[in-house]
Amino acid sequence: MIDSEKIYSLNLKVEKYLPERIITLSMDEFDGKIAYVSSFGTESAIILHMISRINKKFPIILINTYFLFNKTLEYKHMLLEKMNLENFKEIYPDNETLQNNDKQNDLWKTNTDKCCDIRKVQPLNKELKNYNAWISGRKSYQGSERKTLKAFEYINNKVVVNPLVNFSQENVDQYFKKNNLPRHPMYDEGFLSIGCTHCTAKPTDVKDVRSGRWINQTKTECGIHKRFKDWENNNG
Ligand code: SF4
Repeated sequence: MIDSEKIYSLNLKVEKYLPERIITLSMDEFDGKIAYVSSFGTESAIILHMISRINKKFPIILINTYFLFNKTLEYKHMLLEKMNLENFKEIYPDNETLQNNDKQNDLWKTNTDKCCDIRKVQPLNKELKNYNAWISGRKSYQGSERKTLKAFEYINNKVVVNPLVNFSQENVDQYFKKNNLPRHPMYDEGFLSIGCTHCTAKPTDVKDVRSGRWINQTKTECGIHKRFKDWENNNG
């Protein structure tokens, strides 16, 4: 039974744990029904590498909105092959939902929240029916809503595990260097956070790695981590 007390005690328990230990603990805690939801963005190679050392059959999911950069898809192929990861699944928006809501593929111009909802949130929620928990690569140094991030959260009846919560930018750079991991091909071009083609630009503020996402909008997250109100109200 997962409730706010359980989440609180897990967070207390892992305060001094390294990310890999948080991942292995999570596999036990949630009966192996856990997946890594990866964007195959600028820092995704870190958790993929950790998983490859724990269990190559660990489920990995990519939400393909149909608006991903070709370079992201190429990077995905390269990382999966390099790390011999065997349990990868790409999920897509529902065709009928797209037909009914975004026939011209231009909803992102007028309603980014709805576009993210039908292209990311809905396909992920459908896929997560098979899991008790999922891993996210968010880190508190990324700022905005992520500043107060904890290793374990409970969002919409699923546990979200953030093993890199306490990683700093320096830790990220060191991990890439120490393990000789390839960077996303757009990283050297100056892209520090990479999502869909329409909503990704180079950062407007180098200190804020996500400042190139949804530029000129108040939106800072795609919505997959957004809580439904009910659980919040009941569990604070
Ligand atoms: S990031 Fe942009 S293009 Fe991608 S799903 Fe969200 S609004 Fe649509």
